Amino acid sequence: MSEPRRISILGATGSVGASTLDLIRRERDKWQVVALTANCQAAELARLAREFAAEVAVVADPACLGELHTALAGSGTEALGGAPALVEAASRPADLILAAIVGCAGLAPTMAAIEQGRTVALANKEALVSAGEVMTAAIARCGTTLLPVDSEHNAIFQCLAGNRGEDVRSITLTASGGPFREWSAAQLAAATPAQAVKHPNWDMGAKISVDSATMFNKGLELIEAYHLFPVGLDALRIVIHPQSVVHSMVEYRDGSTLAQLGPSDMRVPIASALAWPARMDTPCAPLDLAKIGALTFRAPDEELFPATRLAREAAYAGGGAPAVLNAANEVAVAAFLAGHIGFTRISAGVADMLARFAPAAPASLDDVIGIDGEARGRMRETLGIA
Ligand code: NAD
Ligand code: MG
Repeated sequence: MSEPRRISILGATGSVGASTLDLIRRERDKWQVVALTANCQAAELARLAREFAAEVAVVADPACLGELHTALAGSGTEALGGAPALVEAASRPADLILAAIVGCAGLAPTMAAIEQGRTVALANKEALVSAGEVMTAAIARCGTTLLPVDSEHNAIFQCLAGNRGEDVRSITLTASGGPFREWSAAQLAAATPAQAVKHPNWDMGAKISVDSATMFNKGLELIEAYHLFPVGLDALRIVIHPQSVVHSMVEYRDGSTLAQLGPSDMRVPIASALAWPARMDTPCAPLDLAKIGALTFRAPDEELFPATRLAREAAYAGGGAPAVLNAANEVAVAAFLAGHIGFTRISAGVADMLARFAPAAPASLDDVIGIDGEARGRMRETLGIA
């Protein structure tokens, strides 16, 4: 039997982290777990670290380190805490690092993982949106293989395999439209956090669920696709597809369109990244198209849901605009979830921030972190939150 592959999971206690560990649990002897990380959730992280005999477990929040230490006593897993420890863990030699922290908080560890020059499976779209060329330049410089885990980008990656980039005419990202896709402007104005996190098709973390409701998720994904697949912004499209069966499509110059279909379960794209370039089993029920019956598509409504338009404009504007868009959105989503602002204020606030703050293009990781911090501060001030 071949040696187990060494894997680290950044954001192990999250939704993507749990789906990944579920797959690894089924093929336990093929994997050696190096690092598992979380923001806090010390008890849950310690339970996972024990189960998977991780070499190191890291909590980003140093206040949670004491609890992690106690929970890991006698386990053989090293317990670490704080931002530098997170970066150190991401730098530990691994064949595959899954970047599944939510938000720009994942940027520095994801960059450290990229700098190993091995393979990074990327779920943490906010990091790529904020860092853009800084991240893609590091990937090229270090010779890193980047495997997209986001279901749309994983679909596109699969549809591009064996084809030439110059033969691509367009790429279409599908969007479920989120829980509010049939709602009126009046209903949106009164939408609550509980309603926003209840996604009709996918079971995901709170932040990305709100992003799906506003359509910022698709906006971030448009910028993500722009960096991952160099076909140019003009060639990127978005279509609403409520059934979430077609995960995205690539149209070629001869008129052929290739699509990837599958159940709406993140274990499918994660398995594609874990086993790439081979395939592995998943426990997901096979797609039953006869049972699904109809697949429907329609154009997005950018009047009601301006997020995709704002993201496209930020991508065309370039410079620091995508980092500002992402930071402003992260602050607004947290404020909405905490009950401080209404749902429609998220997009309005981001639009306002983009109009007022246009920093130059970041040239380094520190520049990106600087723009992100500045945009967060300004957004908090605008929204009147501490
Ligand atoms: P989640 O909220 O369920 O989990 C996030 C993970 O990041 C947790 O382990 C948490 O402890 C950790 N974390 C949170 N804040 C942190 C901080 N400040 N520092 C360090 N670690 C921190 O999120 P999720 O739904 O699993 O999403 C993770 C990423 O994957 C996001 O970027 C999301 O957009 C992307 N993604 C998720 C899905 C999905 O189905 N959930 C699908 C596609 C892409
Ligand atoms: Mg997605």
